[in-house]
Amino acid sequence: MPGEDADSALRAASQFKAQGISSALTRLGENITRVEEADEVAAHYLKLLDRTAASGLDAEVSVKLTQLGFDLDGERTFAHARRLAERALATRRTVWIDMEGSAYTERTVAFYERMKQVCANTGLCLQAYLHRTAADVDRLMPLDPAIRIVKGAYAEPPAIAFQTGEQIDRNYIALSRAMLEAARDGRRIRIALGTHDVTLISEIAGYAAELGLPKASFEVQMLYGIRVDEQRRLAGEGYPVRDLICYGAAWYPWYMRRLAERPANVMFALRQLLP
Ligand SMILES: Cc1cc2nc3c(=O)[nH]c(=O)nc-3n(C[C@H](O)[C@H](O)[C@H](O)COP(=O)(O)OP(=O)(O)OC[C@H]3O[C@@H](n4cnc5c(N)ncnc54)[C@H](O)[C@@H]3O)c2cc1C
Repeated sequence: MPGEDADSALRAASQFKAQGISSALTRLGENITRVEEADEVAAHYLKLLDRTAASGLDAEVSVKLTQLGFDLDGERTFAHARRLAERALATRRTVWIDMEGSAYTERTVAFYERMKQVCANTGLCLQAYLHRTAADVDRLMPLDPAIRIVKGAYAEPPAIAFQTGEQIDRNYIALSRAMLEAARDGRRIRIALGTHDVTLISEIAGYAAELGLPKASFEVQMLYGIRVDEQRRLAGEGYPVRDLICYGAAWYPWYMRRLAERPANVMFALRQLLP
């Protein structure tokens, strides 16, 4: 994280801009307990959208529905998400919806379908570790979707999710290929590869080239501070790259998921605690 406040995130975004890298901004927080907190979160993002528009940054926002009150009041969450997308439309930006744990998957996909009826400029994250995701991609295809495909960050059971890295990678590639083929066939789909796995990215890039698609047929999205050298390399090679910059005080659950992803990070964090 560049810092806990929006100023730090915007500063980081303008540094990335100078390197030809776009940004997505997320204020950390999830599963709020009072519906008024959702109003505050929505107001924060509206102001942030105004600030990114005024500064000329190619910065989009990425939100968790539970941060906008999804557990408490679905209609209010919808109204908030709609206002954000309408505000982002003024600068022709997309509002991304993160995907949370599997208890939310169906509701989130249905929410996205409803959002697309009223605001075309919304995107959804889908997780390659879930068995259902291939069907979700097919289901969303007629909506001309914007899909960010990630491996998935929550602990999900074998009944619904692939468990090994190999299976997840295989599904990630299959899903990406299906989306690229749809793009080749003329479907208006925005494809974002949300991964730091450069082996996967290069395999998918190779397939896009085989299909005769330009480098801009997909975008790479990576998290702030991870594989920054690769973000610069890919941008230098002409691939659209977007850095997802997280900020905010509620970083704990997010940080724990990042630690769990990579055992080396646990050792790194523990070493910081030593005198
Ligand atoms: C832009 C973006 C948005 C995301 N949004 C969501 C979402 O909405 N819902 C969701 O469930 N998940 C989301 N994720 C997280 C995602 O599901 C994975 O948990 C995460 O990206 C790690 O998997 P990977 O694809 O990078 O592959 P991995 O196989 O885990 O990693 C590949 C390589 O990247 C490097 N790397 C990966 N993670 C780290 C790390 N934490 N620290 C240091 N190095 C690392 C390592 O070198 C590793 O070998 C998002 C990820 C990104 C990049």
